[in-house]
Amino acid sequence: MTKLKSILGILVVLLLITSNVSATSLTTTTAQSVVVKTQFETETEDSPDMYIGESELLKNGTMGEDRITIFSEYDGWGLVNSTQFTEILTEPISEIMLVGTKQYPTLLSNDGQLILPCNGVVTSTDKSGSHEGYTAVDIANSIGSPLYAPEDCVITMAEYYGGYGNCLQMSGGKYSFLFGHLSAFNVSVGQEVSKGDIIGFMGSTGNSTGSHLHLEVYINGEKQYIPNVFNLGMGDTI
Ligand SMILES: [Zn+2]
Repeated sequence: MTKLKSILGILVVLLLITSNVSATSLTTTTAQSVVVKTQFETETEDSPDMYIGESELLKNGTMGEDRITIFSEYDGWGLVNSTQFTEILTEPISEIMLVGTKQYPTLLSNDGQLILPCNGVVTSTDKSGSHEGYTAVDIANSIGSPLYAPEDCVITMAEYYGGYGNCLQMSGGKYSFLFGHLSAFNVSVGQEVSKGDIIGFMGSTGNSTGSHLHLEVYINGEKQYIPNVFNLGMGDTI
């Protein structure tokens, strides 16, 4: 028994010596390269022609490229060392984003997407007729006060229309709009206008007793409850 133990001991020692020999004699190094894309950054540039909150891509960015090489060192038993080396092949080029700095001329809608078409005093909210259920609002100001496009729109009506007098209708993305009682138009049917453009002037044409804008807002042809769109109440000054 003692003899067997000592023989096993010698074998273990021999194996250890063998492994040391092979470890030093069989070291190899491999190199593997991969080219990866690197993300560009976004730079901003102020635009006094665009409203606060609006932005537009002025110049596309370009991704860069890095070559990553991994050197791996193996001996007879496996990986013993690994180093990584990164080489920049092309630098990424930043994209440039225009960011609006222009103040809105009037009240913003509850969802922040629209502007109220004019300044003035709210003189009528809920009453029978075209205002039934507060689905229209009257905002009074002097004749000739500017009326702004509430959002980017296409003009669908610019003509005298019964009790509405000189009437503008326009369609944007989600919403469409009706303006009544204008003194004059500044656009024609089919014209594309941008949010904030002056598209007409306040007046008292049609069934009206004083200079004001009659405003209706529609979604899919349905008149909207005005407070759902604009936070406006009787007597408010905007
Ligand atoms: Zn009205």
